[in-house]
Amino acid sequence: MHNAVSRASDDVPFRLGQYEIQSQMARLIAVDNGISRADMARMTGMARSTVAEYLQPLLDCNLVSEQRGNYTGRGRPSTGLSLNMKAGVILVADIGVTHGRLVVADLGAHRLAEEAFMPDLTIGPELLLSEIVERFEKLLQSSTARDRPIRCVVIGIPSPVDFERGMPVRPPIMPGWDGFAVADWVRRRMGVPVMVDNDVNLMALGEARSRPGSQSPLLFIKVASGIGCGIVTKDGELHRGADGAAGDIGHIRVPLHDDVICRCGNIGCIEAIASASAIMRQLQDQKGTVVQTTAELAALITSGDPHAVRLVRTAAAEIGEIVAMLVHMYNPASIILGGKMALMSDDLLAGIRAVVYRRALPLATRRLSIENSQLGRDAGLVGGIALGVDKVLSPRGIQDLLQSR
Ligand SMILES: [Zn+2]
Repeated sequence: MHNAVSRASDDVPFRLGQYEIQSQMARLIAVDNGISRADMARMTGMARSTVAEYLQPLLDCNLVSEQRGNYTGRGRPSTGLSLNMKAGVILVADIGVTHGRLVVADLGAHRLAEEAFMPDLTIGPELLLSEIVERFEKLLQSSTARDRPIRCVVIGIPSPVDFERGMPVRPPIMPGWDGFAVADWVRRRMGVPVMVDNDVNLMALGEARSRPGSQSPLLFIKVASGIGCGIVTKDGELHRGADGAAGDIGHIRVPLHDDVICRCGNIGCIEAIASASAIMRQLQDQKGTVVQTTAELAALITSGDPHAVRLVRTAAAEIGEIVAMLVHMYNPASIILGGKMALMSDDLLAGIRAVVYRRALPLATRRLSIENSQLGRDAGLVGGIALGVDKVLSPRGIQDLLQSR
């Protein structure tokens, strides 16, 4: 089941403003493609005439289209309301430490064009963002959607992000990016709304929206060169916390590792002990085995190198302790493992599962599922598209759309 749109509530409360009501209607249409005016009235509790009044501007601006009649005698008649996929595009950049991907998507979350590139995070924000803007423009021009308006740009970066202000905050691996107003800078260049979020948040959102709603609340744990977590609420929305730092678990201190210094400057952080980078360093320190890339580490693990496999199992046990704590804190319905380490070895999943089921209380684990990511390397892009569609269909997005006509 793929659903790029968050689950809207079934009833529209009284005294909502025009744009809130139209946002609810647009979300209903996105979730239930082909919904009739009568169903819309029933689900919102509004009179048919009121539905018609609020619907008309959405039809006039081409965000929603309506088909009448044309019953072919087979299946569901092709009447009803649907989101006009061609009403605009969403551009998403998923920027990681060792990968970058760009995508052009329509409002139905279909990917129309995409490309991979190697971003250099060390050249500073202005040069890299210029490159991304240029690549976006070329990619859009090369796609079938070149004539459609850009409704929204979403950028995921490997850094803590102040989401409201659209800027990274003290990223340990991105020199020159601290406090740089990424969203404002790109908005000025492209003239469209821009959202910036932490890469793991986008992966969590992508994974949650591609699963049934019953699998949220959901925690997405990324284990790669660092360790991070994205939190999705029961309603399918990201929980970012007061400042955007929620889920930044990589720097939780693990007992008995005070001899290990983390890149954040503290000692004994889980990321410095159990990430792919940590395992690569331990291989070198303990066995003199030089492993420079995660691909080389993956090859070593796949070949069954006993030392590498043991290090992964030890790391899984350490991460499992943290995850067991999170389970008590948040009582998720599912925990999804992603990132390169999860992809390279099932030992990580098995090890984390073992600790969590042993340590956490039965009530918290009764229905808990712990799985590897379904989306793999696509999770961040899928989440970015979902965030973009949410933005376009939000009250503010609808207001912008109607006022820009
Ligand atoms: Zn740290």
